[in-house]
Amino acid sequence: MTSDSCTPRFRLALIAHDNKKDAMVALAREFAPFLQGCALCATGTTGGRLAQEVGLQVERMLSGPLGGDLQIGARLAVGEVDAVIFLRDPMTPQPHEPDINALVRACDVHDVPCATNVASARLLLQRWMAAQTV
Ligand code: PGA
Repeated sequence: MTSDSCTPRFRLALIAHDNKKDAMVALAREFAPFLQGCALCATGTTGGRLAQEVGLQVERMLSGPLGGDLQIGARLAVGEVDAVIFLRDPMTPQPHEPDINALVRACDVHDVPCATNVASARLLLQRWMAAQTV
């Protein structure tokens, strides 16, 4: 990576379903120098892994199935989240599907970028990094 920081005004929420947590950790490792300069929040288990395995400072919400997605959605709705990376598992039914839909809907309502797969997350992060270096 060419850029090694981002301003704190980039407030990023990170969520990964269980089958996508390894992908989230790999993505975070790839962008770690950049992410270290961001204000990160995450659902509980995702945030724990990012802290432990990547060394990122992450504000941890409740676990997703216990309301973490809703907490992030509420924060987003009042303008406190600039973007979401939400690595959803499209192959596995989730007990908190209504919460997931509510979060994605909140992103659409408030026009907040929401990357739901690794390819789009990379584009989002690369775009932010480029914006920082101009
Ligand atoms: P978790 O929540 O990071 O606590 O596993 C993610 C989710 O399933 O929404």
